[in-house]
Amino acid sequence: DPNMAERSADVIRTLLQHGYEAYWVGGCVRDEYMGRRVSDMDITTSALPEVTCSVFPKVVPTGIKHGTVTVLMEGQAFEVTTYRVESGYEDHRHPTEVAFVRDVKEDLTRRDFTMNAMARGIDGSWVDPFGGREDIDKQVIRCVGDARLRFREDALRMVRCIRFASVFGFSIALHTWKGILSERDTLSWIAMERIRSEFEKIMTGPSPLRGLEMFLRSGLYSRMKAPFPYTGHDVPIMEAIHRTAPEHSSIRWSLLLLACGISAQEAERLLRSWTFSNKQREAIVKLLALHESYAQVNEEKEKEKEKEKQSGRLTWIKLVLAHGAEAAHSWLQMQTAMEWTGAATVSPAVMEQLEGWLQELQIRNLKDLNITGSELLLALDKRGGAWLGELLGELLEKAAAGLINNDKESLINEAKRVVINNEGS
Ligand code: ATP
Ligand code: MG
Repeated sequence: DPNMAERSADVIRTLLQHGYEAYWVGGCVRDEYMGRRVSDMDITTSALPEVTCSVFPKVVPTGIKHGTVTVLMEGQAFEVTTYRVESGYEDHRHPTEVAFVRDVKEDLTRRDFTMNAMARGIDGSWVDPFGGREDIDKQVIRCVGDARLRFREDALRMVRCIRFASVFGFSIALHTWKGILSERDTLSWIAMERIRSEFEKIMTGPSPLRGLEMFLRSGLYSRMKAPFPYTGHDVPIMEAIHRTAPEHSSIRWSLLLLACGISAQEAERLLRSWTFSNKQREAIVKLLALHESYAQVNEEKEKEKEKEKQSGRLTWIKLVLAHGAEAAHSWLQMQTAMEWTGAATVSPAVMEQLEGWLQELQIRNLKDLNITGSELLLALDKRGGAWLGELLGELLEKAAAGLINNDKESLINEAKRVVINNEGS
């Protein structure tokens, strides 16, 4: 936004005119160097907060104790913060003491990573005491100073570290990575709200899978207050997020929850503990619920289809047995001719299915049945009659359809069952 750049340059210029130092600092300097879109332009200055307040007509004393004043410039807001150092992070997150300092380099030492610890002057000059540009060129995230100390001061930095690595596709310097491994237990001090907002950036970034994997590998995952049960299974779904890049973050979260095997109902609870906004939570839960319902309806439909198919097969087998395999073959060929005239009774797909079933048919007439009429009479201890032909026909159909085995014992058992059933009714 060229307008934002101009207005923030006005802020810096004004401070310089009053005899103070002022620079762009932090994320905006990093993003500009990386050629990324700059979202907000923060300014750091040697002027004390009261001075900043007096120099600009419109200010909001956002965090005056910590040295931060929001300056409003033609509708744009800029955070102007006095050079400061911090100390006494008792809760592994917030400094208890803030001291204003004279040198911009001192201010930069309190910042988390080398790429975030750079300041840029209005004349194009750089203040880059920790080699931030070099690390960006090498695509590596590196703590300013001793990683263990920096993570112990503020545990959220560990999550930020992985977030930056994931979103930028950077690696993490070995010393910095070891710092995470050594200090990871302090993550339990951090509010889920803060972790979630970092996760949101991982999830909407180009490669959420990368971030999640680093989270798992670092052991940070299991140290969150409300852990997410992602254990690295169903990598394909996560990979799919990377490849298809669904725009809306609810879609991405839903895919992640699916990958974790979490139901809509479970998601409801989980997302609450993850401090999602009502709106986002509802969007995700609805999406998962719809997915579940659709899958259920679909499954029933598939079952129905399978049933229909089986009954179609049975009908066909009965017809083949009644009219003979030869007639069945010829009929299929006849259908091919009729298909050509547009008057076929069955579609080519169905014909192919019927042909398949016909070829599979091993038992085609009574001779193929492993039992004879007289054997049946003997086994059932009954006199012959019309019923015997009916019974043989029924056994033939069942054996041909594969509903019973074609061996004497199975055939006799089935025959007994049929006879008893018929006598009962
Ligand atoms: P983003 O692209 O998310 O805005 P950012 O680096 O600008 O990334 P901000 O939270 O806007 O992140 O912080 C601005 C600057 O403040 C950072 O660049 C960094 O210099 C410093 N900073 C932010 N959070 C921390 C922290 N937890 N510890 C040390 N320095 C921090
Ligand atoms: Mg920022």
